[in-house]
Amino acid sequence: MEDTYRHKGLRRKLVESLREKGITEEKVLAAMDVLPRHFFLDSAFAELAYQDKALPIECEQTISQPYTVAFQTQLLEIKKRDKVLEIGTGSGYQAAVLGTMGARVFTVERQENLFHKTRKLLADMGFQNIRCYFRDGSKGLAEFAPYDKILVTAGADEVPQALLEQLKVGGMLVIPVGRRAQKMKRIIRKTEMEYMEEDWGDFRFVPFVKGTEPL
Ligand code: SAH
Repeated sequence: MEDTYRHKGLRRKLVESLREKGITEEKVLAAMDVLPRHFFLDSAFAELAYQDKALPIECEQTISQPYTVAFQTQLLEIKKRDKVLEIGTGSGYQAAVLGTMGARVFTVERQENLFHKTRKLLADMGFQNIRCYFRDGSKGLAEFAPYDKILVTAGADEVPQALLEQLKVGGMLVIPVGRRAQKMKRIIRKTEMEYMEEDWGDFRFVPFVKGTEPL
C-alpha cells in the first residue's frame, strides 16, 4: 500500500477537523497526522479513510471513528514509554496511534481472524512496541500487569474487575460503559483501594463480548 500526497492532504484536513471538534492534545493530533489510516481498511473502504466515520472491518466489527480514537487517546494522557493495555485490537489503528506516541502497547482481540491479520499488518508496518494477543479481554492480560493505562474500545455492560486490578496506582482506565449506547468513563486508581470515576459523555461502540471466537 502507498501513502500518497493526496492521502497526506486528506489526513491533514481530517486532523484540522478534529481540532475544530475540540481535540487539543498536540501529540494525539501529530500521531494521527502521520499515521495512514487507509492501511487499516479493506481497499473497498480506503477512499473513505479520511472522513470522520467508523467503518466496517472483518468479523462484523468496526474501526472506531477518528474523533473517538482521538478522544479516548487524549483522555489517557499518554506519555512516552507508558505501558498501555488495549482491549479490542480490531483493525489495529488505535494501537498504532498509541505506538506512534511512544507507548509500549499490549493489545488483546477475541476474534482470532482479526488477531492474525492485524498482528501481521502492525509487524509489516514496523511497530516493535506493539504486541498482539488472542484473548478474552474481560480477563485483561495478567502476565504483563500492572499497566499505566488501560483502554477498552468496545462497549461493556460493566467494568471488568480484572481491568481495575491490573491498573497501577495512579493509572487510568478509559472504558465506554452501557448496553445500546455508552458513557465514556475514565477511572483513576487513586490508591490500592480507591478509584475515582469520571463521566466524559455519550458514544457508540460495537459490543464487548466475553469469551474468544476461534477461526
Ligand atoms: N481499537 C479498534 C476498534 C475495533 S472494534 C480499532 O482501532 O480498529 C472493537 C473490537 O473489540 C472488535 O474487534 C471486537 O472483536 C473486540 N472485542 C470485543 N470484546 C472483546 C473482548 N472481550 N476481548 C477482546 N476483544 C474484544
